[in-house]
Amino acid sequence: MDLSKRKFKEDFKKMLTEVYSMDISESESTEQFFTLGNLLRSYSSKNWSRTNQQYIEKQKKQAYYFSMEFLLGRMLKSNLLNLGILDTVRNGLQDFGIDLEQLITIEPDPGLGNGGLGRLAACFIDSMATSEIPAHGNGIRFKYGLFKQKFVNGYQVELPENWLQNGNVWETRKMHAAVTVRFYGKVWLEQNAAGVLEPHYSDTQDVLAVPYDSAVIGYDNSTVNTLRLWSAEIPPKDDITDYWSYIHQRNQIESISEVLYPDDSNYEGRLLRLKQEYFFVSAGIQSILRHYKKMHLHMNHLAEKVAIHINDTHPALCVPELMRLLLDEEHMDWDHAWNVTVNVMSYTNHTIMSEALEKWPIDMIRSLLPRIDQIICEIDRRFTMKMSTLFESALVERTRIVEGGNVKMAHLAIIGSHSVNGVAQLHTTILKEKVLHDFFLIYPSKFNNKTNGIAQRRWLMLANEPLRDLIQRKIGNEWETTPTELNMLKAFRDDKDTLHELAQIKQLNKERFAEYIKQTMNLEINTDAIFDVQIKRLHAYKRQLLNLLHILSLYFKIKDDPQADIQPRVFIFGAKAAPSYTYAKQIIKLINSVADLINQDRELENKLKIVFVENYGVSLAEKIIPAADVSEQISLASKEASGTSNMKLMLNGAITLATLDGANVEIRDRVGDQNIMIFGLRENEVYQYYRDGSYHSRNYYERNPVLHRILDALIDGTIPGAEAEGHSIFDSLVQYGDEYFVLRDFDSYAAVQERIDHLYRDTLKWQRMALINIAGAGIFSSDYTVQQYASQIWDVSSKVHPL
Ligand SMILES: *Cc1c(COP(=O)(O)O)cnc(C)c1O
Repeated sequence: MDLSKRKFKEDFKKMLTEVYSMDISESESTEQFFTLGNLLRSYSSKNWSRTNQQYIEKQKKQAYYFSMEFLLGRMLKSNLLNLGILDTVRNGLQDFGIDLEQLITIEPDPGLGNGGLGRLAACFIDSMATSEIPAHGNGIRFKYGLFKQKFVNGYQVELPENWLQNGNVWETRKMHAAVTVRFYGKVWLEQNAAGVLEPHYSDTQDVLAVPYDSAVIGYDNSTVNTLRLWSAEIPPKDDITDYWSYIHQRNQIESISEVLYPDDSNYEGRLLRLKQEYFFVSAGIQSILRHYKKMHLHMNHLAEKVAIHINDTHPALCVPELMRLLLDEEHMDWDHAWNVTVNVMSYTNHTIMSEALEKWPIDMIRSLLPRIDQIICEIDRRFTMKMSTLFESALVERTRIVEGGNVKMAHLAIIGSHSVNGVAQLHTTILKEKVLHDFFLIYPSKFNNKTNGIAQRRWLMLANEPLRDLIQRKIGNEWETTPTELNMLKAFRDDKDTLHELAQIKQLNKERFAEYIKQTMNLEINTDAIFDVQIKRLHAYKRQLLNLLHILSLYFKIKDDPQADIQPRVFIFGAKAAPSYTYAKQIIKLINSVADLINQDRELENKLKIVFVENYGVSLAEKIIPAADVSEQISLASKEASGTSNMKLMLNGAITLATLDGANVEIRDRVGDQNIMIFGLRENEVYQYYRDGSYHSRNYYERNPVLHRILDALIDGTIPGAEAEGHSIFDSLVQYGDEYFVLRDFDSYAAVQERIDHLYRDTLKWQRMALINIAGAGIFSSDYTVQQYASQIWDVSSKVHPL
């Protein structure tokens, strides 16, 4: 938008007076932040209503991205950037003596997601608005986001994250758009006068779903889409007979949108979770149909105007819920309703980990959602009947929805969708050949790949302004909207000046991060060291342990020979563990104990440090990633569906140290073997081990003296404070089979780490690799990802043509 500094300053002063009756000298950061937030809302409001109007007037097909999680991060700077007024506002505020960088810290970081899946949803809505795709987010307005993590004696402690405490400046409560969601009760079918079966309900518990909308502002365009998050409330009543039972009931209802489940890649079959899933699904679909009806089209044409995307199985109840509304409210017959439903729905699979595959006891669904239960059983009945005529009965049994007393949510999503996609090429191949092979036989054409992506705006333009400036000086700014233009940087791969500038920027970012660590953790780190970064949820399959075992090997190397020629390293970890995931919490404690041991050792000063930041989340990621030299992407091959921190780090010039897993494979294809550090088992080798059962981790302990010593350190008192954890982790690796092949991959990992140690000494060579990574990161922009969803899955329009 056009905005002069003078106009901004006027607007800012006026808004501060209007909202707070203050002038600038009296105001504090909080008032200034809310004033600026309100001002941005007013700047984008016209485009927001105009975008909506246009969607209606042109009867545009719209897509709705249903996701349990949207891990947005702070929005102030992102909104300023997308409106094109970041510098104007920064300068204007400066005139008032207000520092924008300080102001942004007032905004809480809304942690409405666990990790990659939620962050993907956030990058997607930004990219959809930027690509002018008529698509919106639909989710839950959790009162408490993901817990706040603290370390006490090295142990993770969880505290509530009350992000709404001071209000959320970006949202608008839309009372007129509230809908009712029904739980429990009895349902039966009765013929009406016209002879049609109609459902009747009694004794239901009704919940009022109230939407809170936030503007999703496109970058450098006039599109403003909507993120709609639902809040659960007790419906208004005018006859409260028992006050205390009313309060009790209110609390019970409000608990539905109270907290995000803190599990990542793990399934917990809890009733409240099922309520949450149905709550936002039902509210979202009811609101979509209400909107559709304004166009006065027959429900048979719904799929021409509406696409609904199911992000992982959490919103899989979209399938029976749309069926319910079409059958019961719109009086369609089953076959037409089913046809419409399948054409509307599409589904993304995010994991092959069996512990993450949702299955709900059918009894639980029957009691909580009696009508949905009937519909699911009917879908299942028709599916098995039809498929029994086409396929062997064993295959039908394996693919049916209701089996062994459980409803398999992935099966429901696949059967009820016209498209099923994986999130990286390798992942999609594994789905087709292994995990979902049965379904691939039934529905080969449903399967497709959409490799994940990241928004280059947040992860480069905002997080790393010095790098953005350098890129702009070298190749202009077309890459901002056509990210593959970053390729042009390759022309500078042998330009010493550019490579030196890159090195300087990395150094600057490392110093900034070091200063932050000094302030927040009172820890000094050597900025000449390699900053070796592993930031992601703590999960056994991601193998933070492999990283830690290698750190211990360096520790012993230096202790044995203080003169050992080792490049100094700072190992940076950021990771939350699910509160109920005992093993992951033990690993956190062990890392913290090793950190204490190493960081306090004078002999290791400036050679080895471990920084385990507390409360890893989007805001911390934005600080760490620009400072990273090495990106640890070391999951056991086949286990990480895609990964996205790998893309963010690459875009910021870190060198990827990786197994051939998830999108690492595509990163390797992009930059070439010389510019990435690959190690470890391949996916087919892992499956071979599974087939022949020939992995015996104890042999590695017994036959590899380096490993032997490191593993003994876990149990012989070398690491003070983590005796119990050390024993338990030792046992998992040596006694209980080492499920994720940590010991098997150790030598290969250590060898490639040693190569990094040598490569890093040659700054130009290192920066040349960094530059090739930055230049190659363009295709991993989520702009391209959503453009492919738009054209290949949703069939909705978009501005830019896909790759
Ligand atoms: C990108 C991101 C993730 C995903 O990281 P992976 O390493 O791909 O699992 C998780 N959390 C946050 C805060 C992120 O920004």
